[in-house]
Amino acid sequence: MVVARQAIGPSAELFVDANGAYSARQAIALGERFSQHGVVYFEEPVSSDHLEQLAQVRDRIPMAVAAGEYGYDPWYFRAMLSARAVDVLQADATRCLGLTGWLQAAELAWAAGVEFSAHTAPSVHAQLGCVAPAIAHVEYFYDHARIEQLFFDGAPQPVNGNLQPDPRRPGLGLELKRQDAERWRIA
Ligand SMILES: [Mg+2]
Repeated sequence: MVVARQAIGPSAELFVDANGAYSARQAIALGERFSQHGVVYFEEPVSSDHLEQLAQVRDRIPMAVAAGEYGYDPWYFRAMLSARAVDVLQADATRCLGLTGWLQAAELAWAAGVEFSAHTAPSVHAQLGCVAPAIAHVEYFYDHARIEQLFFDGAPQPVNGNLQPDPRRPGLGLELKRQDAERWRIA
């Protein structure tokens, strides 16, 4: 925590993602400790398969609980919201029935009064975020950002923490760099 805070400086918000690694008891104890380091967001403190435990942790820790990256359909997101399991609903357009499914998840979060956040794939989600009813974050996942820059023209880069798609580019704004991509061809 101390090293992470030193790396990002005093003003950036510090988030933690546990990928469902903890028990509810562990997550509650760690949530208290994390809060002393200014952590404001705790993603998947317990497995998202256990909505009751997620809700239990959410009730007992001071920061926002986020989950939803494993959602594949609207019923998954509806169940998570109905269980009052999250402060921030996540969705990933590369998993949840594409652009349409992602927008459905955004609408569900909006209707429930819960913040909405995009999981990875920043170039796709920066575009989609522009048409969502509301969006709190687009995850600038390092591996994805690197690959997007490597393979595509038009991948937006963050400026002061914001991704701004170029409205002059059609579709998702991405164009494959064919020559650069050729060296990675495997078939
Ligand atoms: Mg995650």
